[in-house]
Amino acid sequence: MKRRILHVDQNCYFASVEMIAHPEYRNVPMAVVGSVEKRHGIVLAKNYLASAAGVKTAEVIWKAEQKCPNLVKAEAHFEKYSFYSKRLREMYSEYSDRVEPFGLDECWIDISESCLDRDAKSVADEIRQRVKEEFSLSCSVGVSFNKVFAKLGSDYKKPDATTVFSEEEFRDVVWKLPVEELLFVGRSTKASLHKINIRTIGDLANASESYLSSYLGKGGVMLWRYANGLDDDEVMKNDYKRDIKSVGNSTTPSSDMRNIKDVSGVMHSLAASVASRLRKYELLGTVVQIWVRDKNLNSYEKQRVLFEPSNNEKEIYETALELFRESYNWHAAIRSVGVRCTKLISKNEGIQLSIFDDCEKLDREKKLDNTVDEINRRYGSGAIKRLVELNGDLGNFDPSRTEGGICGKPGSELK
Ligand SMILES: [Mg+2]
Repeated sequence: MKRRILHVDQNCYFASVEMIAHPEYRNVPMAVVGSVEKRHGIVLAKNYLASAAGVKTAEVIWKAEQKCPNLVKAEAHFEKYSFYSKRLREMYSEYSDRVEPFGLDECWIDISESCLDRDAKSVADEIRQRVKEEFSLSCSVGVSFNKVFAKLGSDYKKPDATTVFSEEEFRDVVWKLPVEELLFVGRSTKASLHKINIRTIGDLANASESYLSSYLGKGGVMLWRYANGLDDDEVMKNDYKRDIKSVGNSTTPSSDMRNIKDVSGVMHSLAASVASRLRKYELLGTVVQIWVRDKNLNSYEKQRVLFEPSNNEKEIYETALELFRESYNWHAAIRSVGVRCTKLISKNEGIQLSIFDDCEKLDREKKLDNTVDEINRRYGSGAIKRLVELNGDLGNFDPSRTEGGICGKPGSELK
């Protein structure tokens, strides 16, 4: 059966969502930025006027302001982006039960077995129109016989355009494109391919499969298949794990925590367990909360929206510890602490890391997280620990026993 796959990519998504609530942003160069005080003082997204002034995604803010002194900076609201993303997917679901998100602003829709009385391009055009009319957003849509080329199509022409790469004609256009336009060809793969003189998708398609296999391993074969239009990866059925509301742990060590070293060790263990469970459920947390109870049994909670949704142990730990440092003045020793992630979203909805400079570093951290999970799964929870966890006494804490929701009574003053 010939497949019909659409890939919808929202144009300037974060910036466009901000412009829904703030129409005045439409007429000025505007960028959605990560927190300036934090290490994330970078441009996350920008509107077309900011683009025209030379502002780039993932660029540090001061550099962007040098190029565009009247740049209006808007704070990021991931909850809003997630909200519209969900509503968009609901709309796409009217066309197919196979709607697979890729980041917050992109989706594949497989209409091979639906909308059979219509040609795929007219469905794509209708979706574009509805995105404009019903959401005041703009998107570009790629239409092809596999996911990789559909994605390439949505990138090919924007904003607000439909591009079709057919099985018969893809070689004429796709093969002329730079090889790094292909999904999963990142900076380092591009450099490796350039070394052997592969510069276009056509060069890649016409290279020897066995040579690519020996040069780049399995990944080389995968890319060769992509370039030749042989990607047969399915568009997943709509299936969001929305039943779990939060993932958290708390613990009361056998002796009170008296300094930051004690607290950081315990929090790291809690964060590791929370992150590991999020990964098991294929979820990402949007908000990190901590819960603290001192030895006089006064307790409080604090929370912070993460820079980007995450199931990374280090991110969750650092945010939790930061919240603690900001909120506790050591008037008394601490009896119990808890760490929890809420506003969970499916892993597939996560922000694409490609826009961040240090995505390779994040990749390494993810691999480390997965290795830790695997060792703990095989040899029992706690078989492996990061060094910092050994600083704190974990008391009765047992990560395998405390699934689902924070233990103990959360305080009432949620800030
Ligand atoms: Mg986009």
